[in-house]
Amino acid sequence: MKKNVIFLLVLVMLLGGCTAARPMENDGKLSVYITTYPLYDFTEKIAGDRIDAVQIIPTGVEAHEYEPSPQLMAKLEKCDVFIFNGGGLEAWAEKVEPSLAGKGVVTVNTGKGIAKDNDPHIWLSPKRAKQQADKIYKALVKADPKNAEYYSKNYAGLQDRFDGLDREYADTLSQAKYKDIVTTHAAFSYLCEDYGLRQVPISGVSPDSEPSPKRMTEIVDFIRKNGIRYVFFEPLTSPKLADSIAEETGIEKMTLDPLEGLTEQQKAKGEDYFSIMEENLDSLKKELVR
Ligand SMILES: [Zn+2]
Repeated sequence: MKKNVIFLLVLVMLLGGCTAARPMENDGKLSVYITTYPLYDFTEKIAGDRIDAVQIIPTGVEAHEYEPSPQLMAKLEKCDVFIFNGGGLEAWAEKVEPSLAGKGVVTVNTGKGIAKDNDPHIWLSPKRAKQQADKIYKALVKADPKNAEYYSKNYAGLQDRFDGLDREYADTLSQAKYKDIVTTHAAFSYLCEDYGLRQVPISGVSPDSEPSPKRMTEIVDFIRKNGIRYVFFEPLTSPKLADSIAEETGIEKMTLDPLEGLTEQQKAKGEDYFSIMEENLDSLKKELVR
């Protein structure tokens, strides 16, 4: 009798070990942790409510500034899929990736093979954002094959939207008489490369790199010599730099959103990647097609 009880206990423990395997948590839904808003948006558009998706970098926080907590690290070890941008945006994510992969988490560095020169801003190019979404799609299918058909249908629709956005950018910006944009930080290199524009950033690939007084003078000179009408600023970073340039040159400020997160207002309005990219195109058109 006693032997049987022990046997049962061991069996329960073994089964417990098996049933506690990842896919059985969250009502059988895949637990997916995603660093940035754009990647979260793409994932949601592919997987809808078939997954339990968590956006790591909160609304209102700019992606370059975010630092993970130890609590987050513990949660990541238990999730099924971890999706991040790469290209140096979340250096912490690149560091923990091998250890998470070793614990059985499907990790997706969406910028691998796409981002170059330590410039992470690939999502601002619809063509490259589509490649990021492709990696997300493939990882979801791999981790959750029973929903593959559903993901595949949604993903086809999402690909069409990227293609449509790319065509719209190409058509509009091919009419651009002016090609230079003065931006707050160097977030738009890929977008400029795709549509034949030139970016003149006040600060570097990260907005926290303070420009030198010499750089500020160069920007002011550039604006005066090249008929620049707007200095672009960002919703989630301090407008101080753009303000002082605007004041010095007498030109206006306009938003060009690097989409490194949504603001609370954008979220409340139901904005998404595509609506903000449309607004960005309107801003570019105002400055360049005139
Ligand atoms: Zn940036």
